Amino acid sequence: SKKIILGKHFDGMPQESDFKIVEEQLPPLKDGEFLAEAVFLSVDPYMRAYAHNMNPGDVMVGTQVAKVVESKNNNYPVGEHVVGKFDWRTHTISSGLASEVAGAGNAPAPYVIPNLSGLPLSYCLGVLGMPGSTAYFGLLDICEPKPGEVVVVSGAAGAVGMIVGQIAKIKGCKVIGITGSDEKGRHLVDVLGFDGYANYKTDNLDQKLGELAPEGIDCYFDNVAGEISTTVISHMREFGRISVCGSISSYNHDVKDPPKVGVVQFYMYENQLIMKGFQNYLYKDRAAEAFRQNLDWIKEGKLKYMETVTEGFNNMVKAFIEMLSGKNLGKAIVKM
Ligand code: NDP
Repeated sequence: SKKIILGKHFDGMPQESDFKIVEEQLPPLKDGEFLAEAVFLSVDPYMRAYAHNMNPGDVMVGTQVAKVVESKNNNYPVGEHVVGKFDWRTHTISSGLASEVAGAGNAPAPYVIPNLSGLPLSYCLGVLGMPGSTAYFGLLDICEPKPGEVVVVSGAAGAVGMIVGQIAKIKGCKVIGITGSDEKGRHLVDVLGFDGYANYKTDNLDQKLGELAPEGIDCYFDNVAGEISTTVISHMREFGRISVCGSISSYNHDVKDPPKVGVVQFYMYENQLIMKGFQNYLYKDRAAEAFRQNLDWIKEGKLKYMETVTEGFNNMVKAFIEMLSGKNLGKAIVKM
């Protein structure tokens, strides 16, 4: 079996040379344990941010869909597929306890995947998993969008963002996505039904938002922070709500070189805005609600979902770097 460890701390954008692939020999199973073989692995932005807390030699953290190939635990029978926080490993020995998960106090215990009505198992790492519940609760609980309101989402063509925008459409809102390419932007409008998009790399964002939302913005789902968000917030209407989900524009900045951002406080008090940050695990007791509703919306054809799939465990690092660089449309996944 193989695992991928942090070779040295990242300096800006992670490089292939910062990681090492290591072979490991796993011991025989003890009673209560099972052996899981990775089928799909997730690469997510939080791994970049989390690496600050890691030491060289630590296994890269992450969740995967895995097949139980040996078992001495009746809750995890051979042949079942499970979702587990098994990190960047091809094979994992687990006893099914949340407490054995390295480094992530809030990770749930591995669970056997229920009937997905024929949808791909990899969806459990996206729309039917953590990114899906992040989008669902982060938008509905924090922004509380009302029909007719204007919703802007940044990181709009990614795993979380494309779900946020579509849920806002389901709720009857006008939706504008911010992304880094026209190809992605056109996909949001032509395929996913967004009302408009801005390309933060080539558009004058301030001007473009003025054109797309002349009436102002009611809800902002923020995946990126920094200059993009300061500009969005300056276009918000009185009593607007901001859901702070992520700050990917800052993840590659060294702590000694923090991003320089404009002042948002003026707009906050002037327009009496509410800004609230959240962590997906805050909603872990309600995760089934997001799972069920997102699954129903997919089955009803109201929610479309895309993945960018990279093949091969040895390409984990490539997939991770490409996701951070914006090469993915929808959820970035690695398939064994
Ligand atoms: P995505 O699928 O959106 O992938 C990351 C995307 O970020 C890239 O495709 C790229 O798209 C965009 N990006 C990269 N660098 C920048 C930059 N400097 N400025 C603006 N955009 C950039 O990832 P996820 O959907 O998984 O995650 C989206 C956000 O949500 C992240 O910030 C993540 O940390 C956060 N998150 C927070 C959770 C929580 O509990 N609070 C849970 C899950 C995710 P483009 O081509 O458009 O630049």
